[in-house]
Amino acid sequence: MIYRREPKDFINIDPLQTGGKLTDSAREALIEWGDGYSVCDYCSGTLDRIKKPPIYSFVHETLPEFLGCDVARITNGAREGKFAIMHAFSECDGEKSIVMDENAHYSSYVSAERAGLKIYIVPNSGYPDYLIKAEKYAEVLEKAKKETDVVLALVTYPDGNYGNLPDVKKISRVCEEYDVPLILNGAYAIGRMDVKMNELGADFIVGSGHKSMASAGPVGVLGMKEEYADIVLRRSKKYNVKELELLGCTARGVPIMTLMASFPHVVERIKRWGKEVQKARRFSKAVERLGIIQLGEKPHNHDLMFFESQLLYEISQKVKNGRYFLYRELKKRKIHGIKPGLTRYFKLSTYGLRDDELEYIITSFEEIIEKYS
Ligand SMILES: *Cc1c(COP(=O)(O)O)cnc(C)c1O
Repeated sequence: MIYRREPKDFINIDPLQTGGKLTDSAREALIEWGDGYSVCDYCSGTLDRIKKPPIYSFVHETLPEFLGCDVARITNGAREGKFAIMHAFSECDGEKSIVMDENAHYSSYVSAERAGLKIYIVPNSGYPDYLIKAEKYAEVLEKAKKETDVVLALVTYPDGNYGNLPDVKKISRVCEEYDVPLILNGAYAIGRMDVKMNELGADFIVGSGHKSMASAGPVGVLGMKEEYADIVLRRSKKYNVKELELLGCTARGVPIMTLMASFPHVVERIKRWGKEVQKARRFSKAVERLGIIQLGEKPHNHDLMFFESQLLYEISQKVKNGRYFLYRELKKRKIHGIKPGLTRYFKLSTYGLRDDELEYIITSFEEIIEKYS
């Protein structure tokens, strides 16, 4: 047996992990449904049509309402959702392209590359805010349309580096003007905050179960407008219940069962999103007083924050084996989640922290800086 001792009684501020912690019911589901292919007892060929366990109603009723879309599916992750869409749109002849923001996750880029799409990047505003603006989408779409057949656009909401939430309504209006369907990558949003694809004007939406929906994973959600279902969910000619882009079946076992087990909790927790934002802002303000400067949108609108600290960097230059001093000091204080070796730039998440934990982390930074100054 391999144990994962460390993070258990640690406070976790790793952005990758704060939204993926299991609920008690998901932990139960993990054991109950842990065997391989456990959900397939009553499957007649299509995952989303399984009625026992109630995957059918989850996929066809619960999820479309939750995501604000017409048609939903379960995927193996946000990236698999993006790749399914992109691949479906890259099918026909000729050079096809996609327009995406500079803050896009590597998996968006890699999906497009694998699908054979040429990639046009919408630049961010640079240091220190790195904002993504609708006007820039217009500029890049204009250029890309002259050179290629632009089949898709993508916006990252929020991005995984700065936690910036661009104005998707504006961006979707621009994409509509250029007649290009828009993918909303909500890996860091869906399951944390209320996101409705239709209200934001996007055509596709993807989310990540293990990132933001308290699930074991790998698992994700995919939503789309009805009009695109024929393209993205087209079926095999030979195996005619199998959807091609999903390779016939996706999360076939424990991942989907933890997603469904946590879902009622997720629905409740997104109502408390305002508190999470307040917490993030409180944290940002407090550490800025210590000389740890938050980059990205300010005031911030998400629990994922990126910091720059000249001070911590200078300390790391002075002390022995200094690159790891911050990691070591935080570990001593049972705080997990800032990557070993980072001091000058790092990101963290305040999601789900209790007030006393938030204060404890702020005090810890204070103590560490004092100790070395
Ligand atoms: C984490 C992340 C992903 C990848 O999600 P998976 O479900 O693991 O594929 C995609 N996009 C963004 C913005 C992310 O932060």
